[in-house]
Amino acid sequence: MIDLHSHSTFSDGTDTPEHLAQTAHQLGLTALALTDHDTLEGLPRFLACQPTVTTLLVPGIELSCRYLGRALHMLGLFVNPAEPVFRERVQALGDRRKARNQKMMLRLQAMGVALTWEAVAAAAPSDLVSRTHFARALVTCGAAGSPQDAFRRFVGDHAPAFVPFPDLTPAEAVRWVREAGGVAVVAHPGRGTPRNFRWDDAMAELKGMGVQGFEARYPDYGPLEERYFLELARTLDMVPTGGSDYHGANKPGQSLGVGRGSLNVPDAILARLQRLLP
Ligand code: AMP
Ligand code: MN
Ligand code: MN
Ligand code: MN
Repeated sequence: MIDLHSHSTFSDGTDTPEHLAQTAHQLGLTALALTDHDTLEGLPRFLACQPTVTTLLVPGIELSCRYLGRALHMLGLFVNPAEPVFRERVQALGDRRKARNQKMMLRLQAMGVALTWEAVAAAAPSDLVSRTHFARALVTCGAAGSPQDAFRRFVGDHAPAFVPFPDLTPAEAVRWVREAGGVAVVAHPGRGTPRNFRWDDAMAELKGMGVQGFEARYPDYGPLEERYFLELARTLDMVPTGGSDYHGANKPGQSLGVGRGSLNVPDAILARLQRLLP
């Protein structure tokens, strides 16, 4: 069993990179990818664990893109975190995230929420601040009853203080990932798109941009959805990847490897991806 999607304290997860590597080893996973949002900062510590674990530790990233007017997350797997041009690009993306965060703060304050930048920063274990940390800070300052409530009323995709970011295109993200030695796959297609969204057409277009696979196995999919995406991967000759999208305590009920209990991404997917590396 492999898991090609997880988050650490370097983005919006609550486990350290070392803890993730050790847990994967204890679970007997064949491979685990660390794919923090828009940062490479957790990867050196993650990869440093390789000599002490049997699990193959795969360096990855989850890049925030926009496609057809909505958020699309692109996973880069097997990227080289030391590649200087890639590092610079990701750094610039981080600066855009910071500017977006400042705008969200102004909106929240305009809504009358007594939230300070210090409180939001304190909710984040590293200097990457995501909406997950906003949600936690909104609970701490008493403006929201729970993180879910904070997403619903303030910072969720359809809530008033939400500011989307950035304007990275999928084609650009693919180029970044390829030039950093990795393979690009779409994370959780089907999440955040309406029921009638034509993923068959969209995925064919994304394949034309150099995307080589997508998550066909994901904890939040129902059986029909999983079957649909597995079949789509076969039709388009793309790799059906998958992962738990583990966030530790920030996404309760999700375990590494097995997701909500029934996730099972076959080892064979790993070799298929490795054959596609530049
Ligand atoms: P950001 O990258 O700062 O826009 O934050 C996005 C992150 O917030 C996602 O990766 C999720 O972990 C989390 N998130 C977004 N919407 C929700 C939601 N409705 N409930 C819980 N977590 C969410
Ligand atoms: Mn997240
Ligand atoms: Mn995502
Ligand atoms: Mn994720």
